Amino acid sequence: MNLLQNYINGAWVNSSGSESINVVNPATQEVLAKVPYGNETQKDVANAVVAAQAAYLEWKNVPVLKRIQPLFKLKQLLEENRDEIARLITLECGKTLAESSGELQRAIENVEVACGAPMLMQSEFLENVATGIDEFMIRQPLGVTACIAPFNFPAMISFWFLPYAIATGNSMIIKPSEKVPLTMMKIFELLHQLDLPKGVINMVHGGKASVDELLENPLVKSISFVGSTAVAKYIYAKGTANGKRVQAQGGAKNPVVVLPDADIEMTSQIITDSVFGCAGQRCLAASVVITVEENSKIKESLYEAAKSRTVGYGLNSGIEMGPVISNDSKVRIESLIDQGVAEGGSLLLDGRNKKVGGFESGNFVSPTIIENLSLTGDLIKTEIFGPVMSLLHMKTVEDAIAFINQNRYGNMACLFTNSGSSARKFRSEAMAGNIGINIGIAAPMAQFPFSGWNESFFGDLHGQGKHAIEFFTQTKVVVERWPKEWTRKF
Ligand code: NAD
Repeated sequence: MNLLQNYINGAWVNSSGSESINVVNPATQEVLAKVPYGNETQKDVANAVVAAQAAYLEWKNVPVLKRIQPLFKLKQLLEENRDEIARLITLECGKTLAESSGELQRAIENVEVACGAPMLMQSEFLENVATGIDEFMIRQPLGVTACIAPFNFPAMISFWFLPYAIATGNSMIIKPSEKVPLTMMKIFELLHQLDLPKGVINMVHGGKASVDELLENPLVKSISFVGSTAVAKYIYAKGTANGKRVQAQGGAKNPVVVLPDADIEMTSQIITDSVFGCAGQRCLAASVVITVEENSKIKESLYEAAKSRTVGYGLNSGIEMGPVISNDSKVRIESLIDQGVAEGGSLLLDGRNKKVGGFESGNFVSPTIIENLSLTGDLIKTEIFGPVMSLLHMKTVEDAIAFINQNRYGNMACLFTNSGSSARKFRSEAMAGNIGINIGIAAPMAQFPFSGWNESFFGDLHGQGKHAIEFFTQTKVVVERWPKEWTRKF
Protein backbone atom coordinates (compact mmCIF):
# COMPACT_ATOMS: atom_id res chain seq x y z
CA MET A 1 0.00 0.00 0.00
CA ASN A 2 1.44 3.37 -1.04
CA LEU A 3 2.13 6.15 1.38
CA LEU A 4 -0.26 9.09 0.95
CA GLN A 5 1.31 12.07 -0.78
CA ASN A 6 1.40 15.68 0.33
CA TYR A 7 0.15 18.52 -1.86
CA ILE A 8 2.78 21.24 -2.05
CA ASN A 9 3.20 24.08 -4.56
CA GLY A 10 0.42 22.83 -6.81
CA ALA A 11 1.66 19.24 -7.10
CA TRP A 12 1.37 15.86 -5.36
CA VAL A 13 4.72 15.00 -3.81
CA ASN A 14 6.12 12.17 -1.68
CA SER A 15 6.86 12.79 1.97
CA SER A 16 10.52 13.25 2.95
CA GLY A 17 10.12 10.50 5.52
CA SER A 18 9.30 6.83 5.26
CA GLU A 19 7.58 6.36 8.63
CA SER A 20 3.82 5.93 8.52
CA ILE A 21 0.74 4.87 10.41
CA ASN A 22 -2.38 3.12 9.15
CA VAL A 23 -5.65 4.81 8.32
CA VAL A 24 -8.29 2.36 9.50
CA ASN A 25 -12.00 1.93 8.78
CA PRO A 26 -13.46 2.02 12.31
CA ALA A 27 -16.34 -0.33 11.43
CA THR A 28 -14.31 -3.06 9.72
CA GLN A 29 -10.65 -2.48 10.80
CA GLU A 30 -9.71 -2.57 7.12
CA VAL A 31 -6.49 -0.60 6.51
CA LEU A 32 -7.48 2.06 3.99
CA ALA A 33 -4.12 3.78 3.50
CA LYS A 34 -0.79 4.61 5.09
CA VAL A 35 -0.21 8.20 6.12
CA PRO A 36 3.21 9.83 6.67
CA TYR A 37 4.00 10.23 10.35
CA GLY A 38 7.04 10.75 12.55
CA ASN A 39 9.79 13.34 12.84
CA GLU A 40 10.68 13.66 9.19
CA THR A 41 7.33 15.18 8.20
CA GLN A 42 8.78 18.38 9.67
CA LYS A 43 10.77 18.78 6.40
CA ASP A 44 7.57 18.46 4.38
CA VAL A 45 6.06 21.34 6.33
CA ALA A 46 9.19 23.44 5.87
CA ASN A 47 8.97 22.86 2.08
CA ALA A 48 5.28 23.78 2.07
CA VAL A 49 6.00 27.00 3.97
CA VAL A 50 8.57 28.10 1.36
CA ALA A 51 6.04 27.50 -1.43
CA ALA A 52 3.21 29.16 0.51
CA GLN A 53 5.31 32.27 1.24
CA ALA A 54 6.22 32.73 -2.44
CA ALA A 55 2.58 32.26 -3.43
CA TYR A 56 1.34 34.73 -0.81
CA LEU A 57 3.60 37.50 -2.15
CA GLU A 58 1.81 37.28 -5.52
CA TRP A 59 -1.67 36.32 -4.32
CA LYS A 60 -2.04 39.27 -1.93
CA ASN A 61 -1.91 41.63 -4.93
CA VAL A 62 -4.63 39.84 -6.88
CA PRO A 63 -7.87 41.89 -6.60
CA VAL A 64 -10.28 40.37 -4.13
CA LEU A 65 -12.98 40.03 -6.80
CA LYS A 66 -10.60 37.78 -8.73
CA ARG A 67 -9.53 35.89 -5.61
CA ILE A 68 -13.08 34.74 -4.91
CA GLN A 69 -13.76 33.40 -8.42
CA PRO A 70 -12.18 29.96 -7.71
CA LEU A 71 -14.47 29.67 -4.67
CA PHE A 72 -17.58 29.70 -6.87
CA LYS A 73 -16.12 26.80 -8.83
CA LEU A 74 -15.15 25.06 -5.58
CA LYS A 75 -18.76 25.20 -4.37
CA GLN A 76 -19.87 23.57 -7.61
CA LEU A 77 -17.18 20.86 -7.45
CA LEU A 78 -18.00 20.04 -3.81
CA GLU A 79 -21.67 19.71 -4.72
CA GLU A 80 -20.94 17.55 -7.76
CA ASN A 81 -18.71 15.26 -5.67
CA ARG A 82 -20.91 15.26 -2.57
CA ASP A 83 -21.66 11.52 -2.64
CA GLU A 84 -18.07 10.47 -3.11
CA ILE A 85 -16.78 12.77 -0.38
CA ALA A 86 -19.54 11.67 2.02
CA ARG A 87 -18.63 8.04 1.36
CA LEU A 88 -14.98 8.74 2.18
CA ILE A 89 -15.94 10.50 5.42
CA THR A 90 -18.00 7.49 6.46
CA LEU A 91 -15.25 5.04 5.46
CA GLU A 92 -12.53 6.62 7.54
CA CYS A 93 -14.50 8.36 10.30
CA GLY A 94 -17.44 5.97 10.82
CA LYS A 95 -20.40 8.37 10.91
CA THR A 96 -23.52 7.60 8.87
CA LEU A 97 -23.79 8.71 5.25
CA ALA A 98 -26.48 11.26 6.15
CA GLU A 99 -24.19 12.74 8.82
CA SER A 100 -21.28 12.85 6.36
CA SER A 101 -23.38 14.60 3.74
CA GLY A 102 -24.64 17.08 6.37
CA GLU A 103 -21.06 17.84 7.36
CA LEU A 104 -20.14 18.59 3.77
CA GLN A 105 -23.11 20.93 3.45
CA ARG A 106 -21.70 22.99 6.35
CA ALA A 107 -18.35 23.14 4.56
CA ILE A 108 -20.01 24.40 1.37
CA GLU A 109 -21.85 27.12 3.30
CA ASN A 110 -18.52 28.51 4.47
CA VAL A 111 -17.36 28.72 0.86
CA GLU A 112 -20.53 30.69 0.07
CA VAL A 113 -19.96 33.15 2.92
CA ALA A 114 -16.29 33.66 1.99
CA CYS A 115 -17.45 34.67 -1.51
CA GLY A 116 -18.69 37.84 0.22
CA ALA A 117 -15.11 38.90 0.98
CA PRO A 118 -15.31 41.98 -1.29
CA MET A 119 -18.04 43.32 1.03
CA LEU A 120 -16.71 41.81 4.25
CA MET A 121 -13.22 43.24 3.81
CA GLN A 122 -14.47 46.79 3.36
CA SER A 123 -13.30 49.08 6.07
CA GLU A 124 -13.61 52.58 7.50
CA PHE A 125 -12.87 56.07 6.22
CA LEU A 126 -13.26 59.37 8.04
CA GLU A 127 -12.86 62.53 6.01
CA ASN A 128 -11.53 65.59 7.84
CA VAL A 129 -10.53 63.76 11.01
CA ALA A 130 -8.61 67.00 11.55
CA THR A 131 -8.51 70.02 9.27
CA GLY A 132 -7.42 68.81 5.84
CA ILE A 133 -6.57 65.37 7.16
CA ASP A 134 -8.34 62.12 6.24
CA GLU A 135 -7.94 58.83 8.05
CA PHE A 136 -8.82 55.34 6.92
CA MET A 137 -8.28 51.72 7.76
CA ILE A 138 -7.49 48.93 5.34
CA ARG A 139 -7.33 45.18 5.85
CA GLN A 140 -4.32 43.29 4.54
CA PRO A 141 -3.61 39.55 4.59
CA LEU A 142 -1.21 38.03 7.11
CA GLY A 143 0.91 35.78 4.90
CA VAL A 144 1.27 32.02 5.35
CA THR A 145 -1.54 30.65 7.51
CA ALA A 146 -2.03 27.12 8.84
CA CYS A 147 -4.94 24.92 9.85
CA ILE A 148 -4.56 21.87 12.10
CA ALA A 149 -7.70 19.72 12.11
CA PRO A 150 -9.20 17.00 14.34
CA PHE A 151 -10.61 13.63 13.26
CA ASN A 152 -14.31 14.12 13.89
CA PHE A 153 -15.22 16.36 10.91
CA PRO A 154 -12.72 15.42 8.19
CA ALA A 155 -14.25 17.82 5.63
CA MET A 156 -16.02 20.62 7.47
CA ILE A 157 -13.55 21.94 9.99
CA SER A 158 -10.85 23.08 7.57
CA PHE A 159 -13.61 25.05 5.82
CA TRP A 160 -14.16 27.20 8.91
CA PHE A 161 -10.83 28.74 7.85
CA LEU A 162 -9.61 27.85 4.33
CA PRO A 163 -12.08 29.82 2.15
CA TYR A 164 -11.70 32.96 4.28
CA ALA A 165 -7.90 32.71 4.38
CA ILE A 166 -7.53 32.59 0.62
CA ALA A 167 -10.33 35.06 -0.16
CA THR A 168 -8.52 37.63 1.99
CA GLY A 169 -5.20 37.09 0.17
CA ASN A 170 -3.31 34.62 2.37
CA SER A 171 -1.84 31.27 1.49
CA MET A 172 -2.69 28.25 3.65
CA ILE A 173 -1.22 24.93 4.74
CA ILE A 174 -3.69 22.32 6.01
CA LYS A 175 -2.62 19.47 8.26
CA PRO A 176 -5.50 17.00 8.41
CA SER A 177 -5.89 14.57 11.27
CA GLU A 178 -3.68 11.53 10.70
CA LYS A 179 -6.72 9.40 11.54
CA VAL A 180 -8.84 10.69 8.63
CA PRO A 181 -6.62 12.11 5.85
CA LEU A 182 -8.47 10.61 2.85
CA THR A 183 -11.34 13.09 2.77
CA MET A 184 -8.96 16.04 2.53
CA MET A 185 -6.95 14.19 -0.14
CA LYS A 186 -10.11 14.05 -2.26
CA ILE A 187 -10.93 17.68 -1.55
CA PHE A 188 -7.41 18.68 -2.64
CA GLU A 189 -7.97 16.80 -5.92
CA LEU A 190 -10.88 19.19 -6.42
CA LEU A 191 -8.90 22.22 -5.26
CA HIS A 192 -6.25 21.26 -7.83
CA GLN A 193 -8.85 21.86 -10.57
CA LEU A 194 -9.31 25.51 -9.53
CA ASP A 195 -7.43 28.39 -11.10
CA LEU A 196 -5.42 29.01 -7.96
CA PRO A 197 -1.74 29.92 -8.32
CA LYS A 198 0.65 27.20 -7.14
CA GLY A 199 1.40 27.32 -3.43
CA VAL A 200 -1.71 29.22 -2.34
CA ILE A 201 -3.11 26.03 -0.82
CA ASN A 202 -1.02 23.15 0.48
CA MET A 203 -1.64 19.99 2.49
CA VAL A 204 0.93 18.22 4.63
CA HIS A 205 0.31 15.06 6.64
CA GLY A 206 1.77 14.02 9.97
CA GLY A 207 1.33 14.48 13.69
CA LYS A 208 3.22 16.42 16.36
CA ALA A 209 6.38 16.94 14.26
CA SER A 210 4.39 18.61 11.47
CA VAL A 211 2.48 20.71 13.99
CA ASP A 212 5.65 21.81 15.77
CA GLU A 213 7.21 22.99 12.52
CA LEU A 214 4.08 25.07 11.84
CA LEU A 215 4.36 26.53 15.36
CA GLU A 216 8.06 27.30 15.05
CA ASN A 217 8.54 28.40 11.45
CA PRO A 218 8.77 32.22 11.48
CA LEU A 219 7.09 32.53 8.09
CA VAL A 220 3.86 31.01 9.41
CA LYS A 221 1.83 33.95 10.66
CA SER A 222 -1.30 32.31 12.01
CA ILE A 223 -2.55 29.00 13.34
CA SER A 224 -6.17 27.84 13.30
CA PHE A 225 -6.45 24.74 15.47
CA VAL A 226 -9.39 22.52 16.39
CA GLY A 227 -8.99 19.51 18.68
CA SER A 228 -8.72 18.49 22.32
CA THR A 229 -8.22 21.08 25.07
CA ALA A 230 -4.81 19.74 26.12
CA VAL A 231 -3.43 20.17 22.60
CA ALA A 232 -5.29 23.48 22.09
CA LYS A 233 -3.54 24.90 25.18
CA TYR A 234 -0.17 23.73 23.90
CA ILE A 235 -0.81 25.21 20.44
CA TYR A 236 -2.00 28.52 21.84
CA ALA A 237 0.90 28.85 24.29
CA LYS A 238 3.61 27.92 21.79
CA GLY A 239 2.10 29.70 18.81
CA THR A 240 1.60 33.00 20.61
CA ALA A 241 5.03 32.76 22.28
CA ASN A 242 6.41 32.59 18.74
CA GLY A 243 4.51 35.73 17.77
CA LYS A 244 1.75 34.09 15.77
CA ARG A 245 -1.93 34.89 15.73
CA VAL A 246 -3.68 31.81 17.13
CA GLN A 247 -7.27 30.61 17.38
CA ALA A 248 -7.45 27.25 19.16
CA GLN A 249 -10.75 25.46 19.67
CA GLY A 250 -10.74 22.78 22.34
CA GLY A 251 -12.92 20.11 23.91
CA ALA A 252 -16.35 20.33 25.52
CA LYS A 253 -18.84 18.95 28.02
CA ASN A 254 -22.15 20.37 26.89
CA PRO A 255 -25.14 20.67 29.25
CA VAL A 256 -28.77 20.67 28.16
CA VAL A 257 -31.58 21.70 30.51
CA VAL A 258 -35.19 20.54 30.15
CA LEU A 259 -37.91 22.53 31.93
CA PRO A 260 -41.22 20.86 32.84
CA ASP A 261 -43.10 22.89 30.20
CA ALA A 262 -41.03 21.53 27.27
CA ASP A 263 -42.71 19.33 24.67
CA ILE A 264 -41.65 15.86 25.76
CA GLU A 265 -41.60 13.97 22.48
CA MET A 266 -39.90 16.65 20.40
CA THR A 267 -37.41 17.43 23.17
CA SER A 268 -36.32 13.85 23.74
CA GLN A 269 -35.93 13.26 20.01
CA ILE A 270 -33.79 16.36 19.56
CA ILE A 271 -31.70 15.63 22.66
CA THR A 272 -30.97 12.02 21.74
CA ASP A 273 -29.96 13.17 18.25
CA SER A 274 -27.59 15.61 19.91
CA VAL A 275 -26.08 13.11 22.37
CA PHE A 276 -25.80 10.13 20.06
CA GLY A 277 -25.42 11.69 16.58
CA CYS A 278 -21.94 10.98 15.16
CA ALA A 279 -21.64 8.47 18.03
CA GLY A 280 -21.27 11.39 20.44
CA GLN A 281 -18.08 12.54 18.72
CA ARG A 282 -19.16 16.11 18.09
CA CYS A 283 -17.77 19.02 20.07
CA LEU A 284 -21.38 20.25 20.27
CA ALA A 285 -22.85 16.92 21.37
CA ALA A 286 -25.07 17.26 24.43
CA SER A 287 -23.37 15.35 27.21
CA VAL A 288 -25.16 16.23 30.46
CA VAL A 289 -28.97 16.38 30.37
CA ILE A 290 -30.58 18.11 33.35
CA THR A 291 -34.31 17.83 33.96
CA VAL A 292 -35.67 20.52 36.23
CA GLU A 293 -38.06 18.90 38.70
CA GLU A 294 -37.84 15.09 38.46
CA ASN A 295 -39.71 14.32 35.30
CA SER A 296 -40.35 10.64 34.80
CA LYS A 297 -42.03 11.18 31.42
CA ILE A 298 -39.00 12.87 29.86
CA LYS A 299 -36.72 10.23 31.40
CA GLU A 300 -38.80 7.45 29.87
CA SER A 301 -38.96 9.21 26.54
CA LEU A 302 -35.17 9.79 26.44
CA TYR A 303 -34.62 6.14 27.34
CA GLU A 304 -36.91 4.90 24.56
CA ALA A 305 -35.38 7.23 21.95
CA ALA A 306 -31.84 6.18 22.93
CA LYS A 307 -32.63 2.47 23.10
CA SER A 308 -34.27 2.37 19.70
CA ARG A 309 -31.27 3.89 17.87
CA THR A 310 -29.93 1.50 15.22
CA VAL A 311 -26.18 1.06 15.53
CA GLY A 312 -24.14 -0.33 12.64
CA TYR A 313 -21.97 0.34 9.60
CA GLY A 314 -22.47 3.90 8.44
CA LEU A 315 -22.51 2.95 4.77
CA ASN A 316 -25.55 0.72 5.26
CA SER A 317 -29.02 2.14 4.97
CA GLY A 318 -31.21 2.52 8.05
CA ILE A 319 -28.20 3.00 10.34
CA GLU A 320 -28.55 5.85 12.84
CA MET A 321 -25.22 5.58 14.64
CA GLY A 322 -21.80 4.33 13.53
CA PRO A 323 -18.72 3.23 15.46
CA VAL A 324 -16.32 5.44 17.42
CA ILE A 325 -13.05 6.32 15.74
CA SER A 326 -10.69 3.70 17.16
CA ASN A 327 -10.44 0.71 19.42
CA ASP A 328 -8.49 2.89 21.90
CA SER A 329 -11.43 5.27 21.92
CA LYS A 330 -13.90 2.42 22.54
CA VAL A 331 -11.79 1.14 25.44
CA ARG A 332 -11.49 4.66 26.88
CA ILE A 333 -15.24 5.34 26.62
CA GLU A 334 -16.17 2.00 28.19
CA SER A 335 -13.76 2.54 31.06
CA LEU A 336 -15.29 6.00 31.64
CA ILE A 337 -18.70 4.31 31.86
CA ASP A 338 -17.21 1.94 34.49
CA GLN A 339 -15.88 5.00 36.30
CA GLY A 340 -19.34 6.61 36.27
CA VAL A 341 -20.80 3.56 37.96
CA ALA A 342 -17.93 3.52 40.49
CA GLU A 343 -18.68 7.21 41.20
CA GLY A 344 -22.27 6.37 42.14
CA GLY A 345 -24.16 6.75 38.85
CA SER A 346 -26.83 4.21 37.95
CA LEU A 347 -26.71 2.71 34.50
CA LEU A 348 -30.11 3.23 32.89
CA LEU A 349 -28.90 2.00 29.50
CA ASP A 350 -25.62 0.14 29.07
CA GLY A 351 -23.93 0.35 25.65
CA ARG A 352 -20.73 -1.48 26.56
CA ASN A 353 -19.60 -4.63 24.72
CA LYS A 354 -21.75 -3.89 21.70
CA LYS A 355 -21.31 -6.31 18.78
CA VAL A 356 -22.79 -5.58 15.36
CA GLY A 357 -23.50 -8.64 13.21
CA GLY A 358 -21.06 -8.84 10.29
CA PHE A 359 -18.84 -6.16 11.87
CA GLU A 360 -17.71 -7.93 15.03
CA SER A 361 -14.34 -6.17 15.07
CA GLY A 362 -15.87 -2.69 14.72
CA ASN A 363 -15.42 -0.04 17.44
CA PHE A 364 -19.08 0.03 18.39
CA VAL A 365 -20.45 1.46 21.63
CA SER A 366 -24.25 1.60 21.92
CA PRO A 367 -26.19 4.52 23.43
CA THR A 368 -25.58 4.68 27.15
CA ILE A 369 -27.39 6.63 29.87
CA ILE A 370 -25.94 7.12 33.35
CA GLU A 371 -28.31 8.68 35.86
CA ASN A 372 -27.49 10.72 38.96
CA LEU A 373 -23.76 10.83 38.50
CA SER A 374 -21.99 12.35 41.50
CA LEU A 375 -21.54 16.11 41.10
CA THR A 376 -18.29 15.94 43.05
CA GLY A 377 -16.76 13.08 41.06
CA ASP A 378 -14.47 13.36 38.05
CA LEU A 379 -16.65 11.96 35.27
CA ILE A 380 -19.20 14.79 35.44
CA LYS A 381 -16.33 17.13 34.47
CA THR A 382 -14.66 14.86 31.88
CA GLU A 383 -15.23 15.03 28.14
CA ILE A 384 -16.24 11.48 27.13
CA PHE A 385 -16.51 12.10 23.37
CA GLY A 386 -18.67 9.03 22.88
CA PRO A 387 -22.37 8.06 22.95
CA VAL A 388 -22.94 8.56 26.67
CA MET A 389 -25.63 10.72 28.29
CA SER A 390 -25.36 11.77 31.94
CA LEU A 391 -28.86 12.39 33.23
CA LEU A 392 -29.24 14.69 36.24
CA HIS A 393 -32.26 16.13 38.02
CA MET A 394 -32.28 19.56 39.67
CA LYS A 395 -34.88 21.60 41.49
CA THR A 396 -34.78 24.92 39.65
CA VAL A 397 -33.48 26.52 36.48
CA GLU A 398 -31.21 28.62 38.72
CA ASP A 399 -29.59 25.43 40.08
CA ALA A 400 -29.04 24.24 36.52
CA ILE A 401 -27.49 27.55 35.45
CA ALA A 402 -25.22 27.53 38.53
CA PHE A 403 -24.10 24.00 37.59
CA ILE A 404 -23.44 25.07 33.99
CA ASN A 405 -21.43 28.08 35.09
CA GLN A 406 -18.84 26.08 36.99
CA ASN A 407 -18.10 23.97 33.87
CA ARG A 408 -14.43 24.23 32.82
CA TYR A 409 -15.59 24.17 29.21
CA GLY A 410 -18.01 26.57 27.54
CA ASN A 411 -18.73 25.33 24.05
CA MET A 412 -22.53 25.07 24.25
CA ALA A 413 -25.48 25.14 26.64
CA CYS A 414 -29.11 24.50 25.63
CA LEU A 415 -32.53 24.95 27.17
CA PHE A 416 -35.82 23.26 26.26
CA THR A 417 -38.88 25.19 27.38
CA ASN A 418 -42.11 26.81 26.33
CA SER A 419 -41.41 29.89 28.44
CA GLY A 420 -39.98 33.02 26.83
CA SER A 421 -38.85 34.48 30.13
CA SER A 422 -36.96 31.32 31.15
CA ALA A 423 -35.34 31.25 27.72
CA ARG A 424 -34.35 34.89 28.03
CA LYS A 425 -32.84 34.35 31.48
CA PHE A 426 -30.95 31.29 30.29
CA ARG A 427 -29.45 32.86 27.18
CA SER A 428 -28.32 35.83 29.22
CA GLU A 429 -26.87 33.98 32.24
CA ALA A 430 -25.51 30.66 30.94
CA MET A 431 -21.73 30.93 30.58
CA ALA A 432 -21.18 29.25 27.22
CA GLY A 433 -20.40 30.72 23.82
CA ASN A 434 -23.05 28.89 21.78
CA ILE A 435 -26.56 28.81 23.23
CA GLY A 436 -29.49 26.73 21.97
CA ILE A 437 -33.11 27.39 22.85
CA ASN A 438 -35.14 24.33 21.87
CA ILE A 439 -32.13 23.36 19.74
CA GLY A 440 -29.95 20.34 20.46
CA ILE A 441 -26.83 21.24 18.46
CA ALA A 442 -26.39 25.01 18.61
CA ALA A 443 -23.89 25.02 15.75
CA PRO A 444 -23.49 28.53 14.38
CA MET A 445 -24.14 28.75 10.66
CA ALA A 446 -21.27 29.97 8.50
CA GLN A 447 -22.37 33.62 8.80
CA PHE A 448 -21.75 33.55 12.57
CA PRO A 449 -18.62 32.90 14.65
CA PHE A 450 -18.22 29.48 16.29
CA SER A 451 -18.10 31.01 19.74
CA GLY A 452 -16.59 28.57 22.25
CA TRP A 453 -15.72 29.99 25.70
CA ASN A 454 -13.53 29.00 28.65
CA GLU A 455 -11.38 25.94 27.94
CA SER A 456 -13.28 25.27 24.73
CA PHE A 457 -11.46 28.15 23.06
CA PHE A 458 -8.14 29.95 23.34
CA GLY A 459 -7.83 33.17 21.38
CA ASP A 460 -9.91 36.21 20.50
CA LEU A 461 -11.39 35.76 17.04
CA HIS A 462 -13.32 32.58 16.25
CA GLY A 463 -13.77 30.64 13.03
CA GLN A 464 -16.41 31.47 10.36
CA GLY A 465 -18.12 34.65 9.18
CA LYS A 466 -16.84 38.13 10.02
CA HIS A 467 -14.53 36.82 12.74
CA ALA A 468 -12.71 34.77 10.11
CA ILE A 469 -12.25 37.83 7.90
CA GLU A 470 -10.83 39.73 10.88
CA PHE A 471 -8.61 36.83 11.93
CA PHE A 472 -7.05 36.48 8.50
CA THR A 473 -6.39 40.18 8.00
CA GLN A 474 -4.37 42.79 9.85
CA THR A 475 -5.60 46.34 10.00
CA LYS A 476 -3.53 49.22 8.73
CA VAL A 477 -4.55 52.78 9.47
CA VAL A 478 -3.50 55.55 7.11
CA VAL A 479 -3.55 59.23 8.11
CA GLU A 480 -3.32 61.42 5.04
CA ARG A 481 -2.78 65.12 4.36
CA TRP A 482 -2.49 66.77 0.95
CA PRO A 483 -1.59 70.45 1.57
CA LYS A 484 -2.79 72.61 -1.30
CA GLU A 485 0.52 74.45 -1.54
CA TRP A 486 2.37 71.12 -2.15
CA THR A 487 0.24 70.27 -5.16
CA ARG A 488 2.14 70.86 -8.38
CA LYS A 489 0.35 73.23 -10.66
CA PHE A 490 -0.01 72.14 -14.30
P1 NAD B 1 -6.49 15.95 19.04
O1 NAD B 1 -6.24 17.12 19.91
O2 NAD B 1 -5.97 14.64 19.47
O3 NAD B 1 -5.87 16.20 17.57
C1 NAD B 1 -6.16 17.36 16.83
C2 NAD B 1 -4.97 17.67 15.91
O4 NAD B 1 -3.82 17.94 16.72
C3 NAD B 1 -4.60 16.54 14.97
O5 NAD B 1 -4.31 17.09 13.71
C4 NAD B 1 -3.36 15.93 15.61
O6 NAD B 1 -2.44 15.42 14.66
C5 NAD B 1 -2.72 17.09 16.36
N1 NAD B 1 -2.07 16.69 17.60
C6 NAD B 1 -2.44 15.68 18.44
N2 NAD B 1 -1.61 15.62 19.49
C7 NAD B 1 -0.70 16.60 19.33
C8 NAD B 1 0.42 17.04 20.11
N3 NAD B 1 0.76 16.45 21.25
N4 NAD B 1 1.13 18.09 19.65
C9 NAD B 1 0.80 18.70 18.50
N5 NAD B 1 -0.24 18.33 17.72
C10 NAD B 1 -0.99 17.29 18.13
O7 NAD B 1 -8.07 15.90 18.79
P2 NAD B 1 -8.94 14.77 18.06
O8 NAD B 1 -8.96 13.55 18.92
O9 NAD B 1 -8.52 14.64 16.65
O10 NAD B 1 -10.38 15.46 18.08
C11 NAD B 1 -11.29 15.35 19.14
C12 NAD B 1 -11.25 16.57 20.02
O11 NAD B 1 -11.48 17.73 19.25
C13 NAD B 1 -12.34 16.56 21.10
O12 NAD B 1 -11.79 17.02 22.30
C14 NAD B 1 -13.37 17.55 20.57
O13 NAD B 1 -14.16 18.16 21.55
C15 NAD B 1 -12.49 18.54 19.89
N6 NAD B 1 -13.20 19.31 18.90
C16 NAD B 1 -13.50 20.59 19.19
C17 NAD B 1 -14.22 21.37 18.30
C18 NAD B 1 -14.57 22.79 18.62
O14 NAD B 1 -15.10 23.45 17.76
N7 NAD B 1 -14.31 23.27 19.82
C19 NAD B 1 -14.63 20.81 17.08
C20 NAD B 1 -14.30 19.49 16.80
C21 NAD B 1 -13.58 18.73 17.72
